[in-house]
Amino acid sequence: MLNSFYAKLSGLFLVMIVGLGVVLAVLGGRTAQRYADEVEQKLNRTLAEEMVPRFEPLLKDSIDRAGIREKIEDMTGINRRIEIYLLDRQGALKASFASPSAAIEQKTIEMAPIRRFMKGDDLPILGDDPKDRAEKKPFSVAHIEIMGQAHCYLYVILGSEQYASVAGMIEDSYIIQGALTGFGIILLVVAGLGLLLFRRLTQRLRNVQHVVATFEQGDFDQRIDESANDEIGQLAACFNRMADTLVDTMEELRQADRMRRELVANVSHDLRSPLASIQGYLETVHMKDGSLDPEERQRYVKTALHNAQRLSDLVGELFELSKLETKQVEPTIESFPIAELVQDIVMQYEPQAEKQKIDLHAEVPERHARVAADIGLVERALSNLIDNAIHYTPGGGQVRVRLDNREQEVCVEVEDTGPGIPEDDLPHIFERFYRVDKSRDRDKGGAGLGLAIAKTILELHDRPLQVESTVGEGTTFRFCLPVATATSRPTEH
Ligand code: ADP
Repeated sequence: MLNSFYAKLSGLFLVMIVGLGVVLAVLGGRTAQRYADEVEQKLNRTLAEEMVPRFEPLLKDSIDRAGIREKIEDMTGINRRIEIYLLDRQGALKASFASPSAAIEQKTIEMAPIRRFMKGDDLPILGDDPKDRAEKKPFSVAHIEIMGQAHCYLYVILGSEQYASVAGMIEDSYIIQGALTGFGIILLVVAGLGLLLFRRLTQRLRNVQHVVATFEQGDFDQRIDESANDEIGQLAACFNRMADTLVDTMEELRQADRMRRELVANVSHDLRSPLASIQGYLETVHMKDGSLDPEERQRYVKTALHNAQRLSDLVGELFELSKLETKQVEPTIESFPIAELVQDIVMQYEPQAEKQKIDLHAEVPERHARVAADIGLVERALSNLIDNAIHYTPGGGQVRVRLDNREQEVCVEVEDTGPGIPEDDLPHIFERFYRVDKSRDRDKGGAGLGLAIAKTILELHDRPLQVESTVGEGTTFRFCLPVATATSRPTEH
């Protein structure tokens, strides 16, 4: 508890408040004392002067101490707080009429304050008190003639012992006591309010700490209230953002892990089937070697070879996708005429289309625009799309590869009149190993990597691969590439 931020803050605050109280009390006391001195001196400025005519007759031949004491007693009956001294010209004490109990500590009085007083300087002027070396007191002074010696001094200490100390003054004054009590109450109220305020402020810090601790223990839904627009609110907002990022990253990691497991399962499955088939046919050929007629043997070996080819294609595609996804392949951007590439690919697929009785056509505008892209990768993506279109479109259908020159880009569309893709499958067809027909009958489709490869290639070009499809009508895949500018140069690697 003592180690808490609140305890430290409060402790410091209380020390400051008490310190402030003491300093203000001392300053206030000193000021009050000086003010009392000033008032006393101003009121009694001419006191010494007024006394001179009364005392001078008693100082003609000798110092008539008894006579003077009598006179003083008459006067101090009215004003008890004065003490009277006779000084020579240099300030040396000639006679003292202080109360008998008092011990005289100083026999010479400093002349500078006396001169200033005589000159009429602003009050208060404090002078030596013969009875108290440490203290300076308000006084009144006037010239007096002592035994024919002119310009001696009648030196009257005002206030004498009454206000000798601040404590004494406080004890004596109801006003000061009242003021001090009021001041004390104000300090107490300020201290109380301060402690309450600190408690409220540190409460928010405690909340932050509580939420962070709960989060640390695994409750990732915990967030801090960030409504206040101060440092704590900003800290809370920072933490909340960090927590969101952490949760998102964890979710991504979890998803990546799930995908990795799925991938391993899919790969093993897709590798196992052709392998098993190859093994089966080869074993048959091996075991029945004598009894197989050449035609049958030829068929078995051909099937085994076909499966070996599929296996090789699958491994090749997987390797390709993995290189694309891990960014081991950097697109080499160069400027090339896209129409020529489209026509080349379409020509390559013509025999296959013809075999399947599909009408494959390229629709290319007259103006041949150049695009800035990696020609090898674009060829691969486009081949995958055309391959799919031909593959999934039944005989008698059509496949159109269209080019659309726009201002900044050239769009390529591969449109077929195939079976279309159901709406539920559309968002997934770009995932690895995803196939609409789940039967995994190899003759009905590939491994489900073709679109994943095409999409990754376009992502490397910062371009999306879009698809529109209506079941029973057909499917259209579309991507656009930037028109090459004069500055499009092949990237160097
Ligand atoms: P596959 O190797 O199975 O063709 P792809 O990644 O190329 O894998 O395609 C994923 C799935 O999307 C395919 O299994 C198929 O069901 C569907 N598909 C792709 N292209 C077309 C198309 N032109 N018409 C209909 N379905 C398609």
